[in-house]
Amino acid sequence: MSVRDVVIVGSGPAGLTAAIYTARANLQPVIIEGIGAGGQLMLTTEVENFPGFPEGIMGPELMMNLRAQAERFGTEFVTADVDEVDLSTPGEFAARVGSTTYRGRSMIISTGARARMLDLPNERRLLGHGVSTCATCDGFFFRDVPIVVVGGGDSALEEANFLTRFGSKVTLVHRRKELRASKIMQDRALANPKIEFAWNSEVADVIGDSSVSGVRLRDVETGIEREIEAKALFVAIGHIPNTALFEGKLDLDEAGYILTNPGTPRTNIPGVFAAGDVQDHVYRQAITAAGSGCMAAIEAERYLETLGHSH
Ligand code: NAP
Repeated sequence: MSVRDVVIVGSGPAGLTAAIYTARANLQPVIIEGIGAGGQLMLTTEVENFPGFPEGIMGPELMMNLRAQAERFGTEFVTADVDEVDLSTPGEFAARVGSTTYRGRSMIISTGARARMLDLPNERRLLGHGVSTCATCDGFFFRDVPIVVVGGGDSALEEANFLTRFGSKVTLVHRRKELRASKIMQDRALANPKIEFAWNSEVADVIGDSSVSGVRLRDVETGIEREIEAKALFVAIGHIPNTALFEGKLDLDEAGYILTNPGTPRTNIPGVFAAGDVQDHVYRQAITAAGSGCMAAIEAERYLETLGHSH
């Protein structure tokens, strides 16, 4: 099969924005969108902070709009997961899907990250209905109600502090007696009168029919369970970048995120770019992912020009 200008792997806001830009630049991108196409926003309900939607928009609808926009300019979609990549030949980066290999003079990787979950019986069912993995996104919905946050790292404490702006109180559930978070974050959380700590505790389950009404906690030492009232459960126990495909093929940091040249989407391989959460463990927003997808598209375009691409 011929070598294309751009192969995009992953179809969240970063990948689809890269597709819109490269398609409008007449680079005829192919996007391998994955079986779980659309990324983390497909697991979200209302999105109120994506600019341009004053009334808010449902996560899946936003992704359908982005996909339709990319399609309108001629993006080709492959609805499958990539089995293997080969980045060893400059100018011919390959992504294999079953028996078909897609080759690109450039490649944009936007496979995202997934929130680590607790694997509770009712967690997936109530995701977007009180269970959340993003306080910045969803805190606003929980005004004057009790909120539970799980985790003992910087993310959990940051989210707990942030959520005290909205909730009537925030209970931080941590499985040990010591926090993992940095001292400054610990001091801030411990001094916040709206945060209560449930030490040596794990979440046994989240309760609720159509939305969260409570959380069942288990004391890890005694095994004794108790139920507390809560309208929201924020799971903040870390993220896992989707980079298994790229291990040993691209420079990754110790947590597995793709390393990029600071402030750019450039990886250690010229012509291979990374955009969105797969290279960002700090901001993790749909709009920042979309912005970095745009940057990757522009970089890919410039890179192709240096190869003497003509269209
Ligand atoms: P993290 O540092 O890996 O902390 C994860 C926390 O979740 C730990 O306290 C861990 O407990 C707990 N945990 C993990 N699996 C669990 C499970 N199955 N059940 C219950 N608890 C579980 O992750 P993070 O907080 O997302 O931070 C990631 C990185 O980003 C860190 O380097 C962090 O410093 C950085 N970060 C920095 C800031 C900031 O500086 N403002 C903000 C956010 C994140 P244990 O402690 O018992 O292992």
